[in-house]
Order: sequence, then C-alpha cells, then structure tokens
Amino acid sequence: MESELSVREELQGLEELQELDTKLQKLTGELEALPSQLVELETDLDANKVLLQKAQALVEKSQKDQRESEEALATLREQLVKYKVQLMEVKTNKEYQAVLKEISLTEQGISTTEDNILELMLDADDILQESKQFEMEFHEKNREVQGRIQAAQNSADDAEKLLEKSKESRLELVTTVSPESLSHYERISKARGGLGLAKIMDGSCQGCNVRLRPQLVAEIRAAIRIGVCEKCQRFLYFETLET
Ligand SMILES: [Zn+2]
Repeated sequence: MESELSVREELQGLEELQELDTKLQKLTGELEALPSQLVELETDLDANKVLLQKAQALVEKSQKDQRESEEALATLREQLVKYKVQLMEVKTNKEYQAVLKEISLTEQGISTTEDNILELMLDADDILQESKQFEMEFHEKNREVQGRIQAAQNSADDAEKLLEKSKESRLELVTTVSPESLSHYERISKARGGLGLAKIMDGSCQGCNVRLRPQLVAEIRAAIRIGVCEKCQRFLYFETLET
C-alpha cells in the first residue's frame, strides 16, 4: 500500500513539474517576444510619421512657392512704377511706344503672378488641412502605440515576477521527485519539445501515438510502477491521476 502511494505521489510530482515547466516555457517565450513586439509597434508608428513628414514637406513647399511669388509680384510692381516714371521722361514717340510695351508686359506679368498666388493660396488651404489631418492621426496613433508599449512592458514585468516565483516553486517541487526520475524527466523534456510526460489514451501514448503494451498500461493504471513510453521515453500517466 505504502509503495503504491509513493508511486502515485511521484507521478503527481512529475505532473505538477510538467505543468510548472510548461508555464515557465510560456513565460520565457513571452519575455523573449517583447523586443520584437516593441519593434513592430514602433514600425507601425513610423508609417504614420512618414505620412506626416511628407504632408509637412508639402506645406513648406507651398509656403515657399507663395513667398517667392509674392516677391516676384513686388518686383514687377516696382518695375511698373519705374516704367510709368520713365514714360513721362521719354523724348521720342518710338521711346514712348517701347516703354508702353514694357508697361503692358509688366501688367500682364502682374496679372499672371496674382492669379498664380491665388491658386497657390487655394491649394495651400487643402495642403494645410491634409497636413493637420495627418498630424491628428499621428498623435492618435502615437497615444495608442505608447499605450500598447506600456501594456507590453507591464505584462513583461508581470511575467518576469511570475517567472521568478515559478522558479522558486520549482526548487521545492523537484524535491518531491526522485533524483532518477527527475534526471530522466529533464533529459526527455529537453529532447522532446519540453514535454517529459505523456497521457495514456485508448492504450496509446499521446506523446508519440505508439500503441503501448497492455501489461505496461495495466501496471501504470494500478500504480505498481512509474512507466515510460518505449518509443518516446516520456513518463506515462492517466488523466485521472491529476485529481
Ligand atoms: Zn510515446
């Protein structure tokens, strides 16, 4: 009776160890994923930043174009004044006609430049609105991304704490398992994707699906001994032992 209980107890210990190790693997995985998660979030934000920068560059270009046109307009107006003064000083009809022509050309230039400025101003409104829209979207995205970065860091902190606690629990738990079983468990777990135990279902190992010898299954069911799968070498257990 006493040895039966100790087999059950040992298997129970191994099951708990497996459960804890699975948790540890998950936590470690979460922590390892954090840096790339953060990069992904930053990249997401960068896309919005690029859109905003392009829109801001358009605003700057539009303002520069407007400024240059205003300067050109001012120069043309100065020229017009000069030509009008010149017109009063000319001596010959030929000179008079020549200056009149210059005045006409300058007036045309002024008219064209004024139209141009008006068009630039109308466009500038749209460009500015668009830039403001991108700016709003960027700030919104930035808030969202910063929130998600904070959340990811918080959950990483939680995972870190839980990991430390679980490591301490593991130190206690391994004392409930015999050194031979522990070393077998750790070797197999390492070699087989972190799983050192496999359930028995319908007479088969759920770790590798091999059909188990009925006698082995019977012995494990009766808790006569701790048994391992002959193919994958995982410790075998029945679900019922979990309770
Ligand atoms: Zn197996």
